Amino acid sequence: MSTKLRILVPVKRVIDFAIKPRINKTQTGVETKGVKFSINPFCDIALEESIRIREADKDKVENIHAVSIGPTKAQDVLRTALAKGADNSTLVDVGDEEVEPLSVAKLLQKVVEKDNSNLVILGKQAIDDDANQTGQMLAGLLNWPQATNASKVEIDGDNVTVTREIDGGADTLRAKLPLIITTDLRLNEPRYASLPNIMKAKKKPLEKLKASDLGIELVKRIETLKVVEPPVRNAGIKVETVDELVSKLKELKAI
Ligand code: AMP
Repeated sequence: MSTKLRILVPVKRVIDFAIKPRINKTQTGVETKGVKFSINPFCDIALEESIRIREADKDKVENIHAVSIGPTKAQDVLRTALAKGADNSTLVDVGDEEVEPLSVAKLLQKVVEKDNSNLVILGKQAIDDDANQTGQMLAGLLNWPQATNASKVEIDGDNVTVTREIDGGADTLRAKLPLIITTDLRLNEPRYASLPNIMKAKKKPLEKLKASDLGIELVKRIETLKVVEPPVRNAGIKVETVDELVSKLKELKAI
């Protein structure tokens, strides 16, 4: 019999992707007051994939556990994850502190060990820090294989085949469990949570921990010196012909 999947899905609460972020007055980061927060889109795709794996073969998946490291309010994204199909969830409450990817990976390593997870599906990146590091660091800490930027995941027994988006094409990898997968945009289209499921999710478990409960000290290694808006770009112009394009480029001394 093949191994049952114990899937861990880390979900980050970030400023909603549809919001245009503004820099705060102290130029230390993005203004977060009065701004809508949601589940990070790539984490939503990770969660959707884990639910689809179960829907394809319900006996294959023993558990889907959603974990978020963030402020108390990150419970919202966990409730959403539970409403969509996660079985249980954990909030590692770090208050308003920004936790760097290495600390996130160390906390997730502890959760993996506690849960005896054999598959972790993360987003390829969080859209607030755009770090694209946590999955890779977690694979390093656990000494597990990793398949990043997945656009297709197929599971057959203990073998997992992952198609990855790479520059100019696709790369197909096969690995055995345990495995780390990070999701790319085209892997799937996440569902919305239905109202009855949102109600039912209120009864699903939401465990609350502190980083110290997992034996991890949150260390800051990176100091943000200043955050500024990108320079305003001048509007472009349209040219009618290639000749006109070439003469414009010459005028601008671009060629
Ligand atoms: P990053 O490396 O910060 O770009 O994040 C990549 C992925 O790691 C995210 O899509 C999440 O799946 C996971 N992750 C990063 N930070 C957190 C967090 N604070 N809580 C839960 N998951 C996180």
